[in-house]
Amino acid sequence: MITKQTAYEPFTTDSVVDYLKQRELINPESPVVCEEIGDGNLNYVFRVTATDSNRSLIVKQALPYAKVVGESWPLTLDRARIESESLLQAAKVVPELVPAVYENNPVLASTVMEDLSSHTVLRKGLIEGKRYPELAKHIGTYLAYTLFYSSDFGLEPAAKKELATRFVNPDLCNITEDLVFTDPFFDHETNDFPEALRPDVEEIWADDNLKLEAAKLKQLFLTKGEALIHGDLHTGSVFVTEGSTKVIDPEFAFLGPIGFDVGAFIANLILNYLSQEARLTDTSERNEFQDYLLAVIKETWEVFTETFSGLWKQDGKGAFITVPGYLDYVLSQILQETVGFAGCKIIRRTIGLSHVEDIDGIENSEARINVQRAALQVGRKLILKRESQEKIEDVIALVRGAGNE
Ligand code: ADP
Ligand code: MG
Repeated sequence: MITKQTAYEPFTTDSVVDYLKQRELINPESPVVCEEIGDGNLNYVFRVTATDSNRSLIVKQALPYAKVVGESWPLTLDRARIESESLLQAAKVVPELVPAVYENNPVLASTVMEDLSSHTVLRKGLIEGKRYPELAKHIGTYLAYTLFYSSDFGLEPAAKKELATRFVNPDLCNITEDLVFTDPFFDHETNDFPEALRPDVEEIWADDNLKLEAAKLKQLFLTKGEALIHGDLHTGSVFVTEGSTKVIDPEFAFLGPIGFDVGAFIANLILNYLSQEARLTDTSERNEFQDYLLAVIKETWEVFTETFSGLWKQDGKGAFITVPGYLDYVLSQILQETVGFAGCKIIRRTIGLSHVEDIDGIENSEARINVQRAALQVGRKLILKRESQEKIEDVIALVRGAGNE
């Protein structure tokens, strides 16, 4: 029976199949299997496979609340529209780096997209010590294209403002404002850390210098509508194979500071770097893998800045774009903000709500706490020293130094 959907309803593994068949996104005659595979905190993710052709699709559906907490934490369904529109926006400039979107249904808060099950979640791959030779090039390119072409450097002012109205995202921004920029710096009930770490955490809460810098970074996040950012570009939002990279899950997208996306990616590489202190016990193996992670950070930054500079020269908008020194000024601001945001992200993932498996998965609790302690040190330094970072090598030296203290 074909029914027209007029009201929101959460899918079940049966109803999602009916839905795809009604819309002929899957052959109505095909036998299918359907599983809910979401491991995220917020949404349903269904994989539907037609077993005769092996054709498969992903259906992601937002729930009117955060899946991890339940109905006591309501969350707008509009985030599904924002996610699919953001994927479509990215596909205009880097189609090979995002999943194809086949359908977006704002009533059901659902997106039908390409199945990327041949890929691995980057976080998982890095935890297993895998290397991805194309990763830095792909993420550097993704950042440069998506951010340049959604900023005032790459768009006419009216087009930029039109973009801003489509990506007003208060609920999801509020999560970041609270969980990344506020709660970890105060004794707040959402925080989550082992008792053994309490003295280190109390040091953070008592550090007015650090809190002042966190306040400035939060202010930037609140006010700097520089470009359409992904908003949650951690290593769980990146799917990889040896030669392919796909960025998923941009439901936090809004007009924000460019450095927030660059910083999120770098922060998660640093968290993995620190976790390897406890994960890889063979010294030379560990050193080599940690060097690899720092090389990914360096190359990502280099590809990002070189590509961004090329787009600036080729497609830059406005009278000031050719003024000597302007591009360098913009890139140096982005670097400093990247570093500060990375620091906030590292602290949040260590003592705030929602940690990373890279560190939480370390079995030996003493080793885990040592890594957490090092993460707090690195996070703190990145926040406090961001304004003296002139080049990516400075940041890498800071990470190396802070981890060894
Ligand atoms: P959430 O917003 O709830 O965090 P994600 O978009 O991160 O959801 O997806 C959660 C999980 O679902 C991913 O880690 C991945 O395992 C799976 N998934 C999401 N999108 C796809 C896709 N296009 N192809 C294959 N698996 C996917
Ligand atoms: Mg996710």
